[in-house]
Amino acid sequence: MDKVALITGASRGIGRACALALAERGYDIAVNYNSNDQKAQEVVEEITALGRKAVAYKANTADLDAVKQMFRAVIKEFGKLDVLVNNAGVVDDAYLLMIREDSLSRSLDINIKGYFHCAQQAALKMFGKKQGKIINISSVSSVLAVEGQAVYSATKGAVNSMTAVMAKELAPKGITVNAVAPGFIATEMMDSIPEELKARYLEEVPMHRFASPKEVAAAVAALCSDDFSYLTGQTIVLDGGLSL
Ligand code: NAP
Repeated sequence: MDKVALITGASRGIGRACALALAERGYDIAVNYNSNDQKAQEVVEEITALGRKAVAYKANTADLDAVKQMFRAVIKEFGKLDVLVNNAGVVDDAYLLMIREDSLSRSLDINIKGYFHCAQQAALKMFGKKQGKIINISSVSSVLAVEGQAVYSATKGAVNSMTAVMAKELAPKGITVNAVAPGFIATEMMDSIPEELKARYLEEVPMHRFASPKEVAAAVAALCSDDFSYLTGQTIVLDGGLSL
């Protein structure tokens, strides 16, 4: 296929699943991560075993200099960029009066600024070819009030808004921008949720199950395909009916 995708936060969870799903569909993959060298290398090996090229890039997406350096290295190695999946994100639930300043800043820096940093750099690399796809991973929490998630919800609401505006700005340049807003997905991110709360959430999801990262990745891969070439600025909620 000769296409290249950069996925942020691809060492585990949804990002890893997106990396594998796009590799299975013929993409070469730049695997971004923040800290876990071993996990990132494992993903690189899984992609290589699928017959595609993969390289791991350690970069904190909240750090603009690190992001610029990563994109330069990706272009040097792969020659171009067709797809960016903005996925690296954190959650640190707390009720309003318990929100700590350091946690608030970290969430805003990674979940919002990190997405802007990567989208800017990706758009710069895509302009020349007048084509490209940016997929932003949002959350059902952007459209559903979950207690304790004021900060997380705010960051994911920002993702939906930036998706629409970026889509409008970049459409004349041949670049589409869409978001996928998953509900509860079985990843390490969910490990912080107490078991009794997880059981309550399971009751609340009309499908009575959590999704696998692979199910999110399938939606991301579909949005990257030419079948959805006229879709832009949309947030696809993928939540088993939770928000209905
Ligand atoms: P996860 O299992 O916690 O994995 C997070 C990934 O992001 C890891 O690869 C981690 O790298 C990377 N990462 C974290 N901070 C980073 C930073 N500053 N720079 C670069 N990489 C960073 O998370 P997940 O559950 O797969 O979630 C992925 C995305 O889906 C997030 O945006 C999240 O908000 C969204 N989402 C998740 C769920 C869910 O139920 N799990 C639901 C809705 C939306 P290291 O391993 O190196 O630390």
